[in-house]
Amino acid sequence: MTIGFIGLGHMGGPMAANLVKAGNTVKGFDLSQPLLDEARGKGVTACASLAEAVAGVDTVITMLPAGKHVLSVWQELLATVPSGTLLIDCSTIDIDSARKAHEMAAGKGCPSLDAPVSGGAGGAAAGTLTFMIGGEQDVFSKAQPVFEAMGKKIIHCGGAAAGQAAKICNNMILGISMIAVGEAFVLGEKLGLSHQALFDVASVSSGQCWSLTTYCPVPGPVPTSPANNDYKPGFAGALMLKDLKLSQEAAQSAGATTPLGAKAAELYALFNELGNADKDFSGIIDMLRQKSGG
Ligand code: NAD
Repeated sequence: MTIGFIGLGHMGGPMAANLVKAGNTVKGFDLSQPLLDEARGKGVTACASLAEAVAGVDTVITMLPAGKHVLSVWQELLATVPSGTLLIDCSTIDIDSARKAHEMAAGKGCPSLDAPVSGGAGGAAAGTLTFMIGGEQDVFSKAQPVFEAMGKKIIHCGGAAAGQAAKICNNMILGISMIAVGEAFVLGEKLGLSHQALFDVASVSSGQCWSLTTYCPVPGPVPTSPANNDYKPGFAGALMLKDLKLSQEAAQSAGATTPLGAKAAELYALFNELGNADKDFSGIIDMLRQKSGG
């Protein structure tokens, strides 16, 4: 296949490289020249403009910061690509923008999918991302090989924007559960309970969750968690706040009551204001500990 790939940052760069490894021709574009040069080194054809990157391709993938970037790039590229070109957005964006992007593509006769990912930059490099996908079944089926080149778990979640809905609901669970696990460790410390003892109990009891068993926010019990590496991301506090804000926006417009999601967004905003936006989000345990008097 010939694929235009727009946005070659932390995630898009390695994803485009994996599409090349799988035997596709990939034409890449980013506003950053150093990122274009890096992508060229991995076999991507570096293009000088968006129009050049999408000329003559079967599929366009966007991996951009937010909804406004996706809508502006899709509007520009839809003016040049022929109808029938498949458009896939892998960015994490708000539900309204995702729906609008699908409508814009349909207006030009282009099939489209929203396909946000989880797995972070490590998963993007290793080709082990999870894709959660919204769009029509036949479009999803046709695009399967594209996702298989970049990920391991590929889940069709429903119609337009269902992938984004799954992503922000999942990350709301994650944001809340990390705070819950952090609070439990801080309370355990105050009660004289060792980290290992709480881990050994909760990881095989009803408190078990990913934030505990894979991403434990205290050093020791899970040696690969960011807590053992001075809370280097991983998944930065800034990105967690972005996703929690998206879920709050969606909850407000859909009329869902999400009080813990709202509180988690508030706590991560404070965590970032305290200078932790670039730290892993599990570092929020330090803020909870400080609020408890250290
Ligand atoms: P990033 O900032 O590293 O990359 C985004 C790239 O888009 C930048 O290189 C930027 O120059 C480029 N860009 C912006 N506007 C452009 C335009 N008009 N034309 C061409 N290029 C343009 O961000 P990232 O970490 O790669 O994240 C991308 C998306 O993936 C975001 O929506 C993010 O929320 C989501 N995401 C990130 C992670 C992660 O761990 N980094 C994990 C899951 C999902």
